Amino acid sequence: MTRGRCGLGHDVHRLFPDCPLVLGGVTIPAAVGFDTHSDGDVLCHALIDALAGAIADGDLGTHFPEDDPAAENARSLDFVREFSAQVARAGFDIANVDAFVVLGTVKLRPYIDEMRSNVAGALGVDIAQVSIKARSNDGLGPEGEGTACAAWASVLVYPRGG
Ligand SMILES: [Zn+2]
Repeated sequence: MTRGRCGLGHDVHRLFPDCPLVLGGVTIPAAVGFDTHSDGDVLCHALIDALAGAIADGDLGTHFPEDDPAAENARSLDFVREFSAQVARAGFDIANVDAFVVLGTVKLRPYIDEMRSNVAGALGVDIAQVSIKARSNDGLGPEGEGTACAAWASVLVYPRGG
């Protein structure tokens, strides 16, 4: 019997004027972006939390501490690539990813396929296994108003050969 394991991840960061907005490894032209230790890519951060949850191995901060000087100016997509190797070492393959990004003031849809391609490449899976959706929150709350950007991700992994 195949024993799939699911994982759930969430992240949110504040947005600031004149900072780069990087989501799924795509730098999106926008008036606001993340001012964080790494590139602030909430989608990648949520995804790593979901992967870590699926294999019950800590969380983003356990594996990529924010105060690690190596994380400064790091690309979060590279963290996804690194952590997918951790999932493989634990003996699991990734069945699929489903994620959404919440931001009301920037049109994300034109960049979704590039994000999917980046994430699929980092995970070593087919783009058809990666779903990314964009929500506006109908203008409500910090994400809707564009003072923050949030992401949610879920993954399913299964034992290799299972
Ligand atoms: Zn984060």
